[in-house]
Amino acid sequence: MNCIFCKIINNELPSYTIYEDEIAKIFLDVNPDSNGHLLIIPKKHITDLNDMDNLTLIHIMELAKKHRQILEKKLNIDGLTLIQNNGMIQDVKHYHLHLKPYYKEKQKILPVEEVYNQIIN
Ligand code: 5GP
Ligand code: ZN
Repeated sequence: MNCIFCKIINNELPSYTIYEDEIAKIFLDVNPDSNGHLLIIPKKHITDLNDMDNLTLIHIMELAKKHRQILEKKLNIDGLTLIQNNGMIQDVKHYHLHLKPYYKEKQKILPVEEVYNQIIN
């Protein structure tokens, strides 16, 4: 299957991964809307919300909650928007939940590698 997120899961494509377990993987968006923009994806190829099972959904939401706290601690974010696109407005057809940090003060977009180092250190 020619899915970029499946390739990221299989390490056929690189990613700045900050967390993974047997169900999900979390990595930095390559083209972030703000510093620390993360994507949480299931390891199974699930297209969108219609195909999601409840256990995976709950697990992904639990990870979102935990990683909000990590972003608060590591990047001093002031807010967080969760977005998950479906259908025509979804570019990559492998389910992904966006975690988009909000900052009170306008931030310059930093290189993804720099933000990755801030999160993991
Ligand atoms: P969508 O519109 O499908 O919700 O958003 C897809 C997101 O995936 C975009 O924010 C885009 O920047 C991100 N993206 C697309 N290709 C790659 C990739 O190869 N690596 C990473 N890390 N993010 C990607
Ligand atoms: Zn996939």
